[in-house]
Amino acid sequence: MIPLTLSAIADFCAGQLIGNDLTVERVMTDSREDCTGSLFVALVGDRFDAHEFINTAKNQGASALMVSRQVESELPQILVKDTQKALGQLARFVRQEVNPKVIGITGSAGKTTVKELVASILRLKGNVLATQGNFNNHIGVPLTLLQLTQDHDYAVIEMGANHKGEIAYCASIAKPDVSVINNVEPAHIEGFGSIEGVAEAKSEIYQALGQDGTAIINLDCDFASQWQEEFIDCHKVTVSRHNDAHFSANNVHLNSEGSVTFDLTKRSIGSKDTVTVSLQLAGEHNVSNALVAAAICSQFDVDLELIKQGLETAGEVKGRLNHLRGLEGCLLIDDTYNASVGAVKAAIDVLTGHQGEHIFVFGDMKELGKDSAQYHKDIGLYAKDKGVEKLYVVGEDVKHTIKAFGENGKWFADKVALIDAIKEQITSQQIILIKGSRSARMEQVVQALIEPQ
Ligand code: ATP
Ligand code: MG
Repeated sequence: MIPLTLSAIADFCAGQLIGNDLTVERVMTDSREDCTGSLFVALVGDRFDAHEFINTAKNQGASALMVSRQVESELPQILVKDTQKALGQLARFVRQEVNPKVIGITGSAGKTTVKELVASILRLKGNVLATQGNFNNHIGVPLTLLQLTQDHDYAVIEMGANHKGEIAYCASIAKPDVSVINNVEPAHIEGFGSIEGVAEAKSEIYQALGQDGTAIINLDCDFASQWQEEFIDCHKVTVSRHNDAHFSANNVHLNSEGSVTFDLTKRSIGSKDTVTVSLQLAGEHNVSNALVAAAICSQFDVDLELIKQGLETAGEVKGRLNHLRGLEGCLLIDDTYNASVGAVKAAIDVLTGHQGEHIFVFGDMKELGKDSAQYHKDIGLYAKDKGVEKLYVVGEDVKHTIKAFGENGKWFADKVALIDAIKEQITSQQIILIKGSRSARMEQVVQALIEPQ
């Protein structure tokens, strides 16, 4: 963070400084981590109240506290009404002071991937701060922005949402110059009621753009035309896999190890430029992610050659369609990081794009709301239709998948039985895709099937 005095922080968070004034350059909220020299902000959640960990934070090196009730401590403390709101106010201030170019990324699937691709391109031009891991909610977004220093030229901010208003809140702090809704799918539908509810919540990211802001619109998304009409004030740049758009893709080719090559075309008035891009990432859906990343970076005068270089050097992310050597020399596709309907279909496409016997090992998809059974059924039908030979499932909702898939589908009550069954029939000719929601912890299956080093 930029160096700030406690009195200045107290000022713009409408707080009261109790104790000595001093300068801090870090903000921490987790007392289990090294807090050396930081302002420790005591957040209050449903399950925890960090005011109880003030002493731990001090022992971990914190220099000052931000609290919503006065505590016994030798450390100076800033007393505010609500520590979570104050965290947002502080982040808003730091973002304004540093004033980097900010990119806001939301969508149902591919946010982290697009973020990584954008960061990989922009790093070729300047100093980039990007969301770490999946720190994309009303706490993660401010904490990310609080890491800004005067050295940063760009901030690439992922924004997720579990409820209406969360993206509006995050965007009011990050104030993106360029924003994208990567796609809209029935993911996390439980907090929103319907897919329209999901789309509306995501559109808060466009809502937050000023007249100088740019909305990147994915024309392949069902809500694209609605957004184009709704957000008339900001600039709009379009991407599409199938239609005419400012950024489009042709000659998509899946390489044998799953990675993908395509021609990326940028169209503007009176000109059309094309480069061939070979991604390290597996799966055709990453073409769409790459188009979005290219459209974003073009807004900062990055030319197509540099975009190509950035896209091609972006590496694989753990648990996302990683191609690994499995027992007996089979090919394992580890996509266990998480699962939404679109992501599962995308992964099945990658699986069946390979030559060999296709095995799909599937755990439950979560947070799909009242139509969850139907979505699980759809996956069974999709897998059958695409030519998956064997389906192995573990969990509850996947019973619908197995029913829809029919013959050559097997249900297991637990992962031990599932792993044993796979091991019994494993051959070198097989390609085994393993996928499920985060909570299904399907990476345990990958671990059991990986070839020992
Ligand atoms: P989360 O909501 O967990 O933060 P995310 O939106 O950040 O997810 P990623 O982590 O980039 O998404 O990707 C998660 C999974 O979604 C990947 O494993 C991949 O299979 C799938 N996926 C990525 N991009 C797309 C896309 N454009 N369309 C469909 N599926 C995608
Ligand atoms: Mg993510």
